[in-house]
Amino acid sequence: MNADVARQVAALRETVARLHRELTRNGLVAWTSGNVSARVPGQELMVIKPSGVDYDDLTADTMVVCDLTGAVVDGGSPSSDTAAHAYVYRAMPEVGGVVHTHSGYATAWAARGESIPCWLTAQADEFGGEIPVGPFALIGGDDIGKGVVSTLAGHRSPAVLMRNHGVFAVGRDARAAVKAAVMCEDVARTAHLARALGQPLPIAPADIDSLYDRYQNVYGQRPPAG
Ligand SMILES: [Zn+2]
Repeated sequence: MNADVARQVAALRETVARLHRELTRNGLVAWTSGNVSARVPGQELMVIKPSGVDYDDLTADTMVVCDLTGAVVDGGSPSSDTAAHAYVYRAMPEVGGVVHTHSGYATAWAARGESIPCWLTAQADEFGGEIPVGPFALIGGDDIGKGVVSTLAGHRSPAVLMRNHGVFAVGRDARAAVKAAVMCEDVARTAHLARALGQPLPIAPADIDSLYDRYQNVYGQRPPAG
């Protein structure tokens, strides 16, 4: 590892450790479940959570560096979901961050094998339509990664509800993936409450397109021109 790559890895160790606090702060995880990873830009490497370490004890130094086959390059035992993260990075070059949680409302939809219809403008903004369900897959090997990638390929959503399991979310970097995981749970909760009250109203596809386009391309602080 040359000095530039070592500096990138050191910075991502800090970022990934810090982003795990967002999972607990937003109530997305129980005990040691859930994990965040980040691709090292331009390298066949990722930084990921260690396996079975308490959230309070996650520091930059405890993060594990793996290659994109999931083999450890530096550190202890990585998250048991490492193979799934590695598969996503290999298959989706545009993805720089991956998050996995069993957050309650979203995972309740996953337990029913039901995608979340687009009933909310915030969902249209962030997900561009339904949040889809992926196949049932056992941990270990590439089955989870394959299911995540094949499901995301047919949708604008950066999150997938893996059937009977939980959420996998992706983003251009780890922070964007964490945001998608947080928003997925928020949408899942509101959609559940709405349906508990009766039949929620659909949003016209053209309006979903319009909301998605505006949010993805116009909304927020833009970098200065030039
Ligand atoms: Zn899981």
